[in-house]
Amino acid sequence: MLPEPPPGCSRRTFLVHALATAGALSAAPLAALGVPLLRVENVSRLYAVEVARIAAPTSTDDVVRALREWPGQVAIGGGRYSMGGQIGIVGGLHLDMRAMKRVLWLRPADRRVRVQAGITWRDLQDVLDAKNLSVRTMQSYANFTVGGAASVNAHGRYVGHGPMGQSVRALQLVLADGSVREADRDHNTELLRAALGGYGAVGVITEVELDLEDNVKIERHIEELRLSAYPNYFARHVLDDPACVMHNADLLPPRFDTPVAITWRQSDKPLTRKQRLVPRGQSYKVQRDALWAITELPYAAKLRRPAIEVARRARPEVAWRNHEASLDVASLEPYSRHLSTYALNEFFVPPRHFESFVREMALILRNRHVEAVNVSIRHSPADTLSLLPWAHEEVFSFVLFYKQRSSADAQRAVGSWTRELIDATLRNEGRYYLPYQLHATKEQFERAYPEVARLRQLKREVDPQGRFSNELWRKYL
Ligand SMILES: Cc1cc2nc3c(=O)[nH]c(=O)nc-3n(C[C@H](O)[C@H](O)[C@H](O)COP(=O)(O)OP(=O)(O)OC[C@H]3O[C@@H](n4cnc5c(N)ncnc54)[C@H](O)[C@@H]3O)c2cc1C
Repeated sequence: MLPEPPPGCSRRTFLVHALATAGALSAAPLAALGVPLLRVENVSRLYAVEVARIAAPTSTDDVVRALREWPGQVAIGGGRYSMGGQIGIVGGLHLDMRAMKRVLWLRPADRRVRVQAGITWRDLQDVLDAKNLSVRTMQSYANFTVGGAASVNAHGRYVGHGPMGQSVRALQLVLADGSVREADRDHNTELLRAALGGYGAVGVITEVELDLEDNVKIERHIEELRLSAYPNYFARHVLDDPACVMHNADLLPPRFDTPVAITWRQSDKPLTRKQRLVPRGQSYKVQRDALWAITELPYAAKLRRPAIEVARRARPEVAWRNHEASLDVASLEPYSRHLSTYALNEFFVPPRHFESFVREMALILRNRHVEAVNVSIRHSPADTLSLLPWAHEEVFSFVLFYKQRSSADAQRAVGSWTRELIDATLRNEGRYYLPYQLHATKEQFERAYPEVARLRQLKREVDPQGRFSNELWRKYL
């Protein structure tokens, strides 16, 4: 029998806490107790998670308090652009970090900044741009939070940089017992390594200290290549050229065999785009209509190659690096995600398997009638810092952007071809990215990330009750 609740605590709250402590809290018993469930959604509108409580801290002290007041499981959310329930745990506390968005200090001479983890890249860019400084490494769009980016160890199009963790000098973490730790390359280094790409498994990242770079003018060059020529072209004309700042190459359906390489090189030419940053709040009607047409109208898809040729022959674009780094995901947002949604998948494969992987991937995408918009190729050197590296050696990455229907049948089909693509990746000694839908089997996850054994061990040391979790870790950890 349960003991009496302490004074000031209702019987129902006490029962919820007792169930949470026993790890027995899930949506079903909560509903039976009459506790209202709160839905935490992600951008794809798939896999909403029903949680028992949401807290929106504005300071590290608030995070400590929220953890001390809630005895059950805790999941952490930033910009909510992960797609498989990585930001919520059923019946748990959701820490919404978006109100922790202050710049704590900026040292332009050292090219260093310290921020609260819930700030978005775009908000940080406003502050940095005034000093003509840039984020060193971030994703291709600026809507993500710095803490969310660190927790997935995100990467962008920056030549030679690899994951963002390489530009993290230090983190402040709040652990499961409410203690606050500073982690850097000399202190609590294993915590730093586990937090970068750790998807909130070891603690809440409350502050992040980052390396910065100068904002420079960059010029766009577009080139079409043969598939087999691309790795050599990349090594000689992009990676070895210190003037190259950003690079990716797009593969288009249905053949996925002619990479269109887009390289931004440092330049002294006059700007063709005068704005320093992408303005906020635009409607992006043209881009959104084009995206709809590409996936719905066969003749529109056929116009893509001629459009690339026009862009290639046109006057080169010259822009500020901060402008190209402040793209807004609103330009990709469909008018509705009710019947269908856009999603991502990403695979990392060493250069020696580049061509064989692309050919296998193209076959699967065609055979399974995947509504692919494109596959963007990027590159990363080996990551020797994070505990769960997606780049365990030098890799090319393949970002698949696709449309899918929202029905259960469509989701099953996406699951089935995603697993085929993961098998192809594993056959080619590669890994897949974890912020997307949770279609991988447990066995595929273990094969892709054998280092998870060390994460499990560390978690037992710093979070023995398994308080930090989410739907990703509930399935795989
Ligand atoms: C349109 C689009 C484009 C994308 N482009 C890229 C790209 O170019 N490169 C790339 O690498 N990825 C890309 N992604 C994936 C994206 O980087 C990840 O989804 C990333 O997590 C987004 O950051 P977020 O702030 O939305 O994090 P969320 O989705 O909110 O969280 C992601 C994970 O981090 C954890 N987390 C968040 N904040 C904290 C914190 N403060 N402390 C501890 N854990 C925390 C969460 O629990 C969760 O597990 C893209 C996604 C979309 C939708």
